[in-house]
Amino acid sequence: MNYKEALQHPVFKTITQSAEELQLKAFVIGGFVRDFILNRGNAKDIDIVAIGSGIELAKRVAQNLPNKPKVQIFKTYGTAMLRYNEIEIEFVGARKESYTENSRNPEVENGTLQDDQNRRDFTINALALSVNKANFGDLLDPFNGIKDLENKTIKTPLNPDITYSDDPLRMLRAIRFATQLGFYIENESLEAITRNASRIKIITKERIVVELNKILESPKPSIGFLLLEKTGLLNIILPELTALKGVEELEGQRHKDNFYHTLEVVDNISKHTDNLWLRWAALLHDIGKAPTKRFSKKVGWTFHGHEFEGSKMVFHLFKRLKMPLNDKMKFVQKMVFMSSRPIVLAQDIVTDSAVRRLVFDAGDYVDDLMTLCEADITTKNPKKFKKYHNNFKIVREKIIEVEERDHVRNFQPPITGEEIMKTFNLKPSREIGVIKEFIKEAILEGEIPNEYKAAYNLMLKKGKKLGLKTNVND
Ligand code: ATP
Repeated sequence: MNYKEALQHPVFKTITQSAEELQLKAFVIGGFVRDFILNRGNAKDIDIVAIGSGIELAKRVAQNLPNKPKVQIFKTYGTAMLRYNEIEIEFVGARKESYTENSRNPEVENGTLQDDQNRRDFTINALALSVNKANFGDLLDPFNGIKDLENKTIKTPLNPDITYSDDPLRMLRAIRFATQLGFYIENESLEAITRNASRIKIITKERIVVELNKILESPKPSIGFLLLEKTGLLNIILPELTALKGVEELEGQRHKDNFYHTLEVVDNISKHTDNLWLRWAALLHDIGKAPTKRFSKKVGWTFHGHEFEGSKMVFHLFKRLKMPLNDKMKFVQKMVFMSSRPIVLAQDIVTDSAVRRLVFDAGDYVDDLMTLCEADITTKNPKKFKKYHNNFKIVREKIIEVEERDHVRNFQPPITGEEIMKTFNLKPSREIGVIKEFIKEAILEGEIPNEYKAAYNLMLKKGKKLGLKTNVND
């Protein structure tokens, strides 16, 4: 492979020249090199390691670039960053690290390129390309990362027990890369992760969530969640999911393993949406099943109210992981809460009024809800599989039909409370709510169209029944 091809962007010429002026050596390292070899498209992040001051090199590069970009300096880390057009370039001086027990932030001293490669997390992330004049484009690969790229292997450059214990975030990164790239984690590494799993507790929740999100955004997220489970990390990070594991049998009645079912649903949905929050909803849609599981001789296993329980658990889970408690969380809650609705609907004859109620309750999220429910069909019975999918097709068609006719998606009552008060000469009172609810129900049941005139007439009728007086002649 000709690695010079990776360095065609004009910014590399400027880096070469700047390093030359400062008489220091510089290398591109890490993800950029890895992704070039894997042909993962043009990377937008470039990491440069300088044998000397990364900050000085960044400043010189900025001076030498035509648009003289601003350099952002992070003194505590000894790093600097600049943006050139759409590319983000980070500069760091080569360093040697030593760790203490309670922190993933090491003590740092200046080092050689080899020292710097030693501190990298994986052999495939330790590949470096020279941008120095004398050997421009040469690959420096002390741990045979190239071979690991070919064999799709994730492996640490040094002793994995030390690598993972020093910075436990690397355990999640290993699993995340395995998921994103479809790679295997070498056995020794996997065992070391399992041994060091409890060390994950020193990592901030925010960083954990970054990795979880990347796993969820991968083409097949189950790869990551299975590895998290196998190594014991999942039980620490998301115990709500491991609680779903297992099949129980009592009196000849079994329920499915809701953990593996959940992973199937997540993989299914990932074929149809890139919406991270909808993928979270798929991951969490059954978490209420563990606390609501019951057995009775009559009906076997039940999970009554698991959707409501699950939606409450979403809040606690988001809070614990310091995830945003905003409209994204509410969306996930709503999806979990409504996750069984279309299924119940599709098992039976699909009526207009059931669909109207679904659209009314789900509002703008109705399409996402349908996507979730289609992904939730994991039955291995081909007849049922076909039937449910067909029914969902009918539901989807009816959603469009009903919505065109009745506009209940973001329902606005056709008769306002004020109009009711005016018509019956009422002060704010219970009757207004009763009439409004009566009209809404009639619309959802399809008894009247969602139109002013029909709703007005119904209001008069209902008012009369309630014994209210009006001066309008009906
Ligand atoms: P991506 O951009 O997909 O996350 P990346 O490999 O570029 O992939 P970064 O987090 O940008 O990931 O890290 C850049 C490089 O820094 C990595 O390739 C690796 O060499 C090194 N690195 C990052 N995090 C760690 C870590 N926790 N321990 C050791 N080396 C790390």
